[in-house]
Amino acid sequence: MDKERELQKLNQEIRKCKKCPLWRTRKNTVPGEGPDNAKIMFLGMAPGVEEDKLGKPFVGRAGKFLNELLRIAGIKRESVFITSSLKCLPQPPKNRRPKREEIEACRPYLEKQIEIINPKNFILLGEVAFSVFFPDKKLSNFRGKFIKKDGREYFTTYHPAAGIRFQKFKKILEKDFKKIKNL
Ligand code: URA
Ligand code: SF4
Repeated sequence: MDKERELQKLNQEIRKCKKCPLWRTRKNTVPGEGPDNAKIMFLGMAPGVEEDKLGKPFVGRAGKFLNELLRIAGIKRESVFITSSLKCLPQPPKNRRPKREEIEACRPYLEKQIEIINPKNFILLGEVAFSVFFPDKKLSNFRGKFIKKDGREYFTTYHPAAGIRFQKFKKILEKDFKKIKNL
């Protein structure tokens, strides 16, 4: 089966998923989007309200800022795969932090996406995305750095939503995205 069909099949599976309680309250699943052979995968935390409404990743305010950051990095949004640690909106309350057991229930979908797309580079946005790959490490020690692990390269920075809230994080995000210019 080709990659495109494999991804479509996976998305159908995600759409029917009831592996954690978030299926009851979601409007749409948000599996992620991008080319099936993307070299770079961006990983966020979880869909927000706007994403849940549209079934697409990073379409709300954080998404607008992510677009700006991608421009700074000279990366075309259409050339990368963008997804999150969870494929459904965490609630109640809406937009709360995902629970560990939700992330574990959802993890096989991310793993399957990685297997199909086989990206060389990961950009981990924020602590939740970082903890999916480095559960026993602290983000503050690795932010803004490239880390090699099992033949792939990981770059960690803050979540764009943090940059909207705090000027300090916005500046660091802009600086970090300049570092991924040459990927
Ligand atoms: N924040 C995320 O982490 N993921 C999205 O898809 C949208 C906002
Ligand atoms: Fe399934 Fe993931 Fe949605 Fe939970 S968050 S219902 S595991 S797709």
